[in-house]
Amino acid sequence: MRNSSKDKLRLSPSALNVFLDCQRCFWLEYGAGVHRPRGPFPSLPSGMDILIKKYFDSYRAVGKLPPEIERQVSGYLFSDTELLNKWRSWRSGLSYYDRDLGAVLVGAIDDCLVENERYIPIDYKTRGFDLADGGESFYQNQMNCYSFLLDTNGMKQPSYAYLAYFIPREIKKGADVRFSVHVKKLNTFPEDALNTFRKAVKLLRSPIPSHDDSCQFCTWNSKGVNNQGVKTKS
Ligand code: SF4
Repeated sequence: MRNSSKDKLRLSPSALNVFLDCQRCFWLEYGAGVHRPRGPFPSLPSGMDILIKKYFDSYRAVGKLPPEIERQVSGYLFSDTELLNKWRSWRSGLSYYDRDLGAVLVGAIDDCLVENERYIPIDYKTRGFDLADGGESFYQNQMNCYSFLLDTNGMKQPSYAYLAYFIPREIKKGADVRFSVHVKKLNTFPEDALNTFRKAVKLLRSPIPSHDDSCQFCTWNSKGVNNQGVKTKS
């Protein structure tokens, strides 16, 4: 995600994931527009995401939970589909503007449960296989950000979130694929999201971090960009 105006930086949870993964890669991508090499974007998870949203919306419309998750979560689906559809887009998603930094954190949530007037983010994940124990920690920053964004937009949240994994189990005649749905509850730390966001913005306004010689991407990177982050090859 690049700046939407010349002085307002916009970062998403996935941008912060890059920051947490490697500060130099983050600086290069969000400060200099130099991306890591990447393959074709898999379209299956995006297609599934659209279908799952429609499926959840059909239950939202009648005030029920989808049967696949009703024994795995508590609360009810956030009922305002129109507002939720705004939150689902990073252009109009939940945002936090930090005046001191002149930067915005924006997140696009998939869905939201409500219980005791608390708002609980839920994210759909399509996976090929069962998740190893503890694998949900990969999404910690993303869900921290969603809890933080709900809080700062006036919706109290209970410092946990749900990850709903859709895993294919079998295929039947007519290419009818059956999925199982596993929901994992993840404790969230909204203050960590704010700290990460602030550190990331400060890093972008600092000189480029140095190379890591042990990283194969860095070897590739060093051939095209000098230590000031200026492209040396087109
Ligand atoms: S390539 Fe360099 S900049 Fe990118 S991840 Fe590796 S160490 Fe970080």
